[in-house]
Amino acid sequence: MTKLPTALIAHGLDEQGMEVTNPATGEVLCRVRTYSEGEIDAAIRAAEVARRDWAGTLAKHRAYALRDWFNLIMAHREELALICTLEAGKPLAESRGELDYAASFVEWFSEESRRAYGETIPSFGPGKDVIVTKEPVGTCAAITPWNFPLTMITRKAAPALAAGCAMVMKPSESTPLCALALEALAHQAGIPADIFRILPSPDAAMVGRIFCTHPTVRKISFTGSTAVGKLLLTQAGNTVKRASMELGGNAPFIVFADADLDAAVEGALVAKYRNAGQACIGLNRLLVEDGVHDEFVERYVARANALVTGEGVDQATVMGPLINDRALQRVEAMTDRARAQGAALACGGNRHNAGAQFYAATVLTGVTQDMDIAQQEIFGPVASVMRFSGEGEALRIANDTNYGLASYLYTRDIGRAWRVMDGLEYGMVALNEGLLGTEVAPFGGVKESGLGREGSRHGMDEYLELKYRLIGGLSS
Ligand code: NAD
Repeated sequence: MTKLPTALIAHGLDEQGMEVTNPATGEVLCRVRTYSEGEIDAAIRAAEVARRDWAGTLAKHRAYALRDWFNLIMAHREELALICTLEAGKPLAESRGELDYAASFVEWFSEESRRAYGETIPSFGPGKDVIVTKEPVGTCAAITPWNFPLTMITRKAAPALAAGCAMVMKPSESTPLCALALEALAHQAGIPADIFRILPSPDAAMVGRIFCTHPTVRKISFTGSTAVGKLLLTQAGNTVKRASMELGGNAPFIVFADADLDAAVEGALVAKYRNAGQACIGLNRLLVEDGVHDEFVERYVARANALVTGEGVDQATVMGPLINDRALQRVEAMTDRARAQGAALACGGNRHNAGAQFYAATVLTGVTQDMDIAQQEIFGPVASVMRFSGEGEALRIANDTNYGLASYLYTRDIGRAWRVMDGLEYGMVALNEGLLGTEVAPFGGVKESGLGREGSRHGMDEYLELKYRLIGGLSS
């Protein structure tokens, strides 16, 4: 049994609190303090008072605090990665990768905080000047999922803090420890306690309702399922809050017959099985063109079968467990249903003997758009292979979904690459790459995959309001 490092999370522990378990073993890691309705209300009110001073600090001072936070996160890299592996189940190498990714948003927005430029606009009349400034939105609230428990915190908190906002957050009940550890480091870095608060709770619906209806909260940011995102948008409507929604996906991964097949197999492997398939940008439908279908499937299945599945703390592991029993049952039921609807099993299709919450890397072939598995987000280690012929059919299948988050294509024909990238109705498209997350580019979806963008220079604008200032009476 690997010991949980507790130095960074000590402030959040409570022997009477909410259990946090290791999904690989089922063992209880610790119990964390939870917050009542009244305490959450008090945290929001305190944030609203504190945010005025924070917004009044020089941008470069907020930049220094964020830079110090980034340095502290990197100094605690191994400790944070281990906490992530223990509470989320992912292999240590993936947790280290996630830690670097999470930290990159803090570094990026420490730099961006000094670039919240406004504009001057050529005047519309004599004796008048038109100036636009950017101002912090105010007190913000956010709710995050468990699948990237470090990144989901920093990708929202760093731009908010850089912009001069306060941020209160409820992490997933499955993974509050990464969030608490990041909070401790932020406070060590000099970010005031009332400006950035982590508020774990087992009652997500209660917290969501307070965040969305509290008149003081000016912005709600959410990452999670489309169903919950829709609920929060409805709740936030009454107080007309700004909203950012990073919701579910149904990513197509299109392999054309002219693709570099070695690269496509490797890309499709990481796009599917990273984090045991529990990623919103994870490959959901693997579209392979007729001419290379059989060869591709043969190679892909050989690689999927060889993935070492086990506890994330074992160095050899490349795929960990699913987050909980409900997720396991869901993936199992979805696979069984696809088979009942006519899909063929090429590998996997069963629980894995590494532990109670493990599912084997699975490949289904002969999947068609009318099957449930092609329309739903799988969120597990199951690849659905579909056959197609030609660009037109690829695009028709790829766009036949209510989601529009990430999409992938492999081809060596530059004209086709450009045409298909144009035609994909998605917020993100990757050509000849299986991974696309980075702090420098805008992350987000269209259709029912969400609203707004995170990361990049656009990520700051989500936490800034424009103020138009008309300066009149200037004629002599
Ligand atoms: P989820 O929607 O069940 O939970 C996400 C968060 O919402 C958790 O903190 C949970 O406690 C909270 N929540 C649940 N019910 C709520 C309610 N009624 N009111 C308020 N909050 C509530 O999703 P999940 O299973 O934790 O995460 C998986 C989902 O997240 C997938 O759909 C995935 O695609 C999506 N996701 C999207 C992105 C993205 O950037 N687009 C990134 C990661 C995950």
